[in-house]
Amino acid sequence: MAIADSRQGSEWKDLDGRHYLHPFTDHKSLAKTGSRIVTRADGVYIFDADGNKILDGMSGLWCVNAGYGRDELVDAAANQMRELPYYNSFFQCAHPPSIELSRMLQEITQPQFNRVFYTGSGSESIDTMIRMVRHYWELKGEPQRKTLIARKNAYHGSTIGGASLGGMKPMHSQGGPMVPRIEHIDQPYWFGSDRSLSPDEFGLQAAQLLRQKIEALGPDQVAAFVGEPIQGAGGVIIPPDSYWPEIQKICDEYGILLVTDEVICGFGRLGQWFGADYFDVKPDLMTFAKGVTSGYLPLGGVMVGDRVADALIDKGGEFYHGYTYSGHPAACAVAIENIRILQRENLVERVRDDIGPYLAERWRTLAEHPIVGETRMVGLMGALELVADKSSLARFDEKIGAGTLCRDFLVNNGLVMRAVGDTIVVAPPLTLSHEEADELIGKAWKCLDLTQ
Ligand code: PLP
Repeated sequence: MAIADSRQGSEWKDLDGRHYLHPFTDHKSLAKTGSRIVTRADGVYIFDADGNKILDGMSGLWCVNAGYGRDELVDAAANQMRELPYYNSFFQCAHPPSIELSRMLQEITQPQFNRVFYTGSGSESIDTMIRMVRHYWELKGEPQRKTLIARKNAYHGSTIGGASLGGMKPMHSQGGPMVPRIEHIDQPYWFGSDRSLSPDEFGLQAAQLLRQKIEALGPDQVAAFVGEPIQGAGGVIIPPDSYWPEIQKICDEYGILLVTDEVICGFGRLGQWFGADYFDVKPDLMTFAKGVTSGYLPLGGVMVGDRVADALIDKGGEFYHGYTYSGHPAACAVAIENIRILQRENLVERVRDDIGPYLAERWRTLAEHPIVGETRMVGLMGALELVADKSSLARFDEKIGAGTLCRDFLVNNGLVMRAVGDTIVVAPPLTLSHEEADELIGKAWKCLDLTQ
């Protein structure tokens, strides 16, 4: 019997309320409503214990790229678990799934990426990357280059390293600053600016903040710049076209490492394999997780470009870093099959040429709604800005803003999207059909109506 079927929905809610401390949750307010108990999923839909069918416009947490209900992924995990459920890749050992996945990742990434370091999550990938970046500069004879520059309001995970590198104030204020020598510059958020500049002028100006920060810190102190190609949890901040080329130029000019955090943008979300491909930048390192297994099992990693890999291998000796579950065989087997699905079903191209443009066109129609100030989308990753007044673009007060819409209206009307402040974000599975896209837009429109 499935675990879900072993108790009634109300029993699950009751036990959940008594024993479970949820991530990113205010438990006093959760106690008023109880959790929505999600029991199963198929395609782009999740189903809850109260019998509701809900279109998952967020692919879980931006991860179920290949959609739910994929027997191929289940079989890949089960077969691998029967064969070899676990072994480490420390101490001169390796196993076929992690080697095969490394080969496939080399194939789908830019030519500078010939090596991968595995982790169990996005946060662990970020921690690994921070240690690797600093170690690289030690090996290069510039150990003073320790500072990493990231962006305000970025989310890079919840480990000590991830929370420090991320730019979310509430995370910094709980426990205090944890990793020294991390700096943050403003995000390239045109809608959040005074909009006096054109988007391209604004993008250039936002990139210059990196130059100013490097100059202020002293160029020989700076190790790397880290950014998501498009900031996801920070509100789907799509930078103007001028932004990334300028960032690349500045990193090259000062010789600092460029790192793209591909935890959300990777594995087809933007209609290219990675966000760096979409913006045509050449990172030295890429962190990834989520979409690599479509969330079916936890896995993450760091793609290590030749510049860093050569230094680590030639001069580094042992890199004192790794996790018990680095390159877990079952997770790697799922990732291999997941990449095969993306390739077999041309899902990346589909996002670029078919469902991406289709949803983007439908998404734009939401801009006609009286409480929408802007819509934006790249691939299958989009946002809309809620405003109380369309001409002044004044925001709602908290009680009727995006949070309320997502919590009280959307999900009760059969659609998951998420609120980031006054921004509503969307990132459905890459398998979304045209009819499901229409359903998503219809439900979103209805809920915007309810919010007025
Ligand atoms: N980096 C980015 C860009 C993310 O969006 C996330 C999670 O949402 C992380 C890192 C952390 O990943 P994880 O939750 O797997 O630790």
